[in-house]
Amino acid sequence: MDFNDTPEEAAFRAEARTWLAAHAAPRTTGSAPPATLTDAFSAEETDHVRRSKAWQATLYDGGWAGITWPKEYGGRGGTTIEAVIFAEEQSHFDVPGSIFTQGIGMGGPALMAHGSEDQKDRYLAPMLRGDEVWCQLFSEPGAGSDLASLTTRAELDGDTWIVNGQKVWTSSAHYSDFGILLARTGEPADRSRGISYFLLDMRSLGVDIRPLRQMTGSAHFNEVFLTDVAIPAANLVGRLNGGWAAAMTTLTSERTLISALGGDRFPRLLELAQAHARTADPRVRQSLAQSYIGFQLVKYLGWRQLTALSQGREPGPESSIAKLALSVRLGEMGDLIMALQGPAGTLISAEPQVMYLDSLFVGQWSSRFGGGTEQVQRNIIAERILGLPRDPAV
Ligand SMILES: Cc1cc2nc3c(=O)[nH]c(=O)nc-3n(C[C@H](O)[C@H](O)[C@H](O)COP(=O)(O)OP(=O)(O)OC[C@H]3O[C@@H](n4cnc5c(N)ncnc54)[C@H](O)[C@@H]3O)c2cc1C
Repeated sequence: MDFNDTPEEAAFRAEARTWLAAHAAPRTTGSAPPATLTDAFSAEETDHVRRSKAWQATLYDGGWAGITWPKEYGGRGGTTIEAVIFAEEQSHFDVPGSIFTQGIGMGGPALMAHGSEDQKDRYLAPMLRGDEVWCQLFSEPGAGSDLASLTTRAELDGDTWIVNGQKVWTSSAHYSDFGILLARTGEPADRSRGISYFLLDMRSLGVDIRPLRQMTGSAHFNEVFLTDVAIPAANLVGRLNGGWAAAMTTLTSERTLISALGGDRFPRLLELAQAHARTADPRVRQSLAQSYIGFQLVKYLGWRQLTALSQGREPGPESSIAKLALSVRLGEMGDLIMALQGPAGTLISAEPQVMYLDSLFVGQWSSRFGGGTEQVQRNIIAERILGLPRDPAV
């Protein structure tokens, strides 16, 4: 991979920068750190959702939403590298963090690959414009890592599917309009071959959403109880009992997205070390250097996936390497954040930048578990990349 912009990419970067400067305020060291959502239904969260939707509509109207999405669905029809350039440029501006990951980042690509033309026409453009927010209803109390054991059931009644069951850890469900839902339509023994992929209107009768509070203090994900929920037959994505293929497209996108979040956390870590006058301590210097190297590696692993994408290849099991690398770095970074602060690290700081760093310590497990845990990524790497014998199934 060539790390320098080609003349075309440099022109694209300049165009993006000019457009962003005309539509957003630059991020300064005094800018608020990226929003960490607090309570479900709180005024702060409602405001964040409103601002995110407004910014997404601005991007869409300016032709900058969905840079790699085909033009027919409202995208720009650009390259993956252009999407990275835009994200890099956008990170210098004070814009709200996205609430559209489950839709634009995960459900959208799955719909493009596996959905019917009617489904693409109906859902993709409003998803991309941020008019409709999506959530992901995959995990269940007894089916997280072992997703193929899920028990939420869909039975066909005329031309309607009736769904019963429970989902959990459903991020953003409480302000979502639609959800991508996995449900069992075959026999439990069929495992992944008895699962179908549906589009669920979250305002349907029988959908009961209950926020869960995390140790970060925020409540961004939910339990979702489904009782006799009716889904039109037209909302089945792909083949009956063939939902696993779309689920895998969704999860690969999720891993790629999470590993791409590795980004620019190191400068804040360095600022913290400087603020505590610890940069002369040789052990701290060593940890900082280690962390810097680690995040650089995560960045290059991310670029490796982007190179594959830009050459028209799907990010395959290699996305697990990048996801695992980020996980390990986040763990190390969390320890360092606490070590730098000493006993003060146990207190909740009122200073926004420190509060943000502390949220990275308690929030590290969200990226380390979400999208598949570290142990599961190690299994994927062992079996699908290294060709080692399969993990014994219980
Ligand atoms: C911040 C966050 C957001 C999320 N958002 C969503 C969402 O929007 N929608 C959604 O559907 N889900 C979501 N999830 C759920 C996520 O996908 C699951 O947490 C994840 O798949 C792990 O499942 P689990 O929590 O049930 O843990 P389990 O599968 O019960 O795992 C428990 C422990 O056992 C280990 N383990 C399990 N199997 C093996 C094995 N074969 N070998 C070795 N070790 C193993 C795991 O690594 C883990 O340490 C979210 C999770 C987080 C943390």
